[in-house]
Amino acid sequence: MSIYFDNAATTKPCEESNRAMLKALNEKWGNPSSLHKMGIEAQEVAENSRKAIAAALGCESECVYFTSGATESNNTAVLGAAKAHGKRRRKIVTTSVEHPSVSEAMKLLEANGYEIVRVNARSDGEYCFEDFIDAVDDNTCLVSCMLVNNENGLIMPVKKAFNSIKRLYPHIITHTDAVQGFLKTPFKASELNADLISLSAHKIQGPKGVGALYIKKDVRISPHIIGGGQENKKRSGTENIPAIAGFGAAVRVNMANANENAAKAQELKSALFRSLMRLDGVSFNSGTEDSSPYIANFSVMGVRSEIMLHYLEEKDIFVSSGSACSKGAKSSVLKGFGLSDDRIDSALRVSFCAENTVGEVKVLCAAIADGIARFRKQ
Ligand code: PMP
Repeated sequence: MSIYFDNAATTKPCEESNRAMLKALNEKWGNPSSLHKMGIEAQEVAENSRKAIAAALGCESECVYFTSGATESNNTAVLGAAKAHGKRRRKIVTTSVEHPSVSEAMKLLEANGYEIVRVNARSDGEYCFEDFIDAVDDNTCLVSCMLVNNENGLIMPVKKAFNSIKRLYPHIITHTDAVQGFLKTPFKASELNADLISLSAHKIQGPKGVGALYIKKDVRISPHIIGGGQENKKRSGTENIPAIAGFGAAVRVNMANANENAAKAQELKSALFRSLMRLDGVSFNSGTEDSSPYIANFSVMGVRSEIMLHYLEEKDIFVSSGSACSKGAKSSVLKGFGLSDDRIDSALRVSFCAENTVGEVKVLCAAIADGIARFRKQ
């Protein structure tokens, strides 16, 4: 039996999600924009899922827009907010540890004359909300900060930063990429004071290729994809109803089990850290406080990430050397957290789901210990 510890890259879709997708695929294949019964039935599927996501975010369903995933949600949020508000105000504040779907959008804006301020972690690897307050000014149109970092699990000070920023500069649009936090660390849209929130289905046991963007009522952003005016003119293109159905089902399942799942993940992370502490030369790149229980990152000093990753793979254990999106490239995100090159070169990310067991953690740690004995000698 294989052991899958790469749940921050993607999760196995749950039964409920698969069933909902198949049903929509076979029975609700009408175009949701069609005015007849088949269209209305397909639209109802989308509205059901929209309601589930809205319930999880604590908002009205009109604020939830379906997209092709969080990459599109992030692109739309960043480029759309800049386009709508950046004519007069051309400064944007973000962090140096964002997912590429945010950081690449920022680079594009930078090339087009925007001033991009990237807030760095402090020397202890922590982010402080005060640094965001210091970075913004009256000329700022957008602040974008992820909720949970996908590589080390750090919970960013979004709530404190956005609440203070909104008090001082109500005109600034606030965006958070909440992909790794949605239904994993408790939050509601209103308490974050976020105008825009990006979500993805495949990180919560839903299908790939579908996500959502929360847009607070009366917040104006320019659409990124234009055409037939679907999704209330915010995102054109015929909605992927089967995927949206699967997304909604996954949200319902995870909402019902959120606390229980987080406690399970915490137990797994603690067990992992306890076992790793017994091994020589393991440095921890993520903590237990202010950190998602679902993501652990550590460096097995003297053994390159890829060597250990493939050694574990031979034993049918799957972990990650960084984010799946960076495909083996040196992590600029871990660099952003101030880690040295040798620590980045030997970093491993272990990310959990509620189906993982402490027994699997033990098997992983024993395999890492074997790997150390084998590769450090060379
Ligand atoms: N943001 C974060 C923090 C992520 O972890 C990911 C997925 N790796 C994305 C955005 C992109 O999501 P999607 O795969 O749905 O495009």
